[in-house]
Amino acid sequence: MVELNYNDIWKAALGEIKLDISKANYLTWFKNTFIKDIKNNTVILGVPSSFAKEWLESKYHKLILQSLKNIKPNIRKVEYEVSHECNTFLETPSTPLKEKVNTKTPEEQLNFTEFTLDPYTNLNPKYTFENFIVGSYNELANAAALAVTENPGTKYNPLFIYGGVGLGKTHLLQAIGNKIKKEKKNFKIKYVTSEKFTEDLVNAIREQKMNEFKTKFRNLDVLLIDDIQFVAGKDKVQEELFHTFNTLNEHNKQIVFTSDRPPKAINSIEERLRSRFEGGMTADIGYPDLETRLAILKNKNFNTQHLVGEDSIKYLAEMVPKNIRELEGALNRLITKAKLQNKPLTLEETKQVLFSILNKPSEYISPNKIINKVANFYDLSEKDIINHSRKKELVKPRQIVMYLLREELGYAFTNIAEKLGQRDHTTIIYAYNKISKEIQKNQILAQEINLIKDLIYNK
Ligand code: ADP
Ligand code: MG
Repeated sequence: MVELNYNDIWKAALGEIKLDISKANYLTWFKNTFIKDIKNNTVILGVPSSFAKEWLESKYHKLILQSLKNIKPNIRKVEYEVSHECNTFLETPSTPLKEKVNTKTPEEQLNFTEFTLDPYTNLNPKYTFENFIVGSYNELANAAALAVTENPGTKYNPLFIYGGVGLGKTHLLQAIGNKIKKEKKNFKIKYVTSEKFTEDLVNAIREQKMNEFKTKFRNLDVLLIDDIQFVAGKDKVQEELFHTFNTLNEHNKQIVFTSDRPPKAINSIEERLRSRFEGGMTADIGYPDLETRLAILKNKNFNTQHLVGEDSIKYLAEMVPKNIRELEGALNRLITKAKLQNKPLTLEETKQVLFSILNKPSEYISPNKIINKVANFYDLSEKDIINHSRKKELVKPRQIVMYLLREELGYAFTNIAEKLGQRDHTTIIYAYNKISKEIQKNQILAQEINLIKDLIYNK
């Protein structure tokens, strides 16, 4: 019998693996993998980066082991080692590394940071004044927010902050909460989106627990309500909000609202509520100037300085003028890409990545495309996503679809429910919140979603 060499074995195993996963995943994760060694029935698999290592270990280990066993039944184990040689089985082998970029452990490299949400206040400690960059465009809002933390309930009450998407409203609102929480230990603080407020109200009415609802919102020292524009057209919610507002205000309790537009531009809202919104201080957030955008990027890029170079950062700051969330999102995509290839991006590569992100306005992305790409990424069919099966492996991809429909297309929760054939839109809100929180804690999930976005926008 002819003994197969390592290349033959791996080639044969890849042939099987290829049949089991999508082409995109195959190319992404198996590029530049090879068998380094086989000893004591253990295969040492060389992989190009520690990011790929994490991924192969956590996602494809079983498949890899099984495929290898099919070729060589005595194999018992697979171990992964970062190694910069490359194989030639897959298209487009990357250019060999001139210098070793990363000497960090995978944990360091993936920059795991735990952020835990406080379930009572709903505050996320990652949003602080310390990491909020101030420029002339948000100076007023920042100053007003700081003033509120010094003497809650007295000076600017309510404070109404408004501005376009992705410009730091939620960050600032949460920073107010976090600072007061730290400095005034006995203060009862709560952050809610107006949609969560609505959901709680609907539940309270249905379950006849209105008293509980009232206690929950009227006994606070500080109430922070995000995206208040969503109460437009909801009479019952507006009424309840009005009474909540009055009770708190009478007792000099602080209220802060954010909105994507000034009070007078919110249609379908009761006049008495609008006048409450305007009754304290309103501060708008405009568009950040180039200098501020650079400062924000540099701050965010602090830990991975060498993966995304100065010239790429500059280019990015110039390309995305009006949305800090988009700016951050694009930076994360660059970081992911650099980690995948385990070397810094050239300016040319940066331009390529950004071109595919920035030149595809979201109007051209259909919900079906999102469903299709998520299904594709997880090797599922679109039906799997839309059906109601509770199988664990389907739940996550489905929640990611819900999250992306909201995040990328700005769909209303009720529309998403309709699109996915769900009776109840609270499932969608739950999924959206869950994934949003999870992304903060779980870098792997965050990277997965970045890669899915690449699929959505690239092709
Ligand atoms: P909005 O609520 O206005 O849509 P967010 O507050 O969610 O926007 O901000 C989007 C992202 O940009 C967040 O991750 C936030 O931390 C970041 N961000 C926004 N403004 C700033 C800033 N001035 N400095 C640092 N990060 C910012
Ligand atoms: Mg927001």
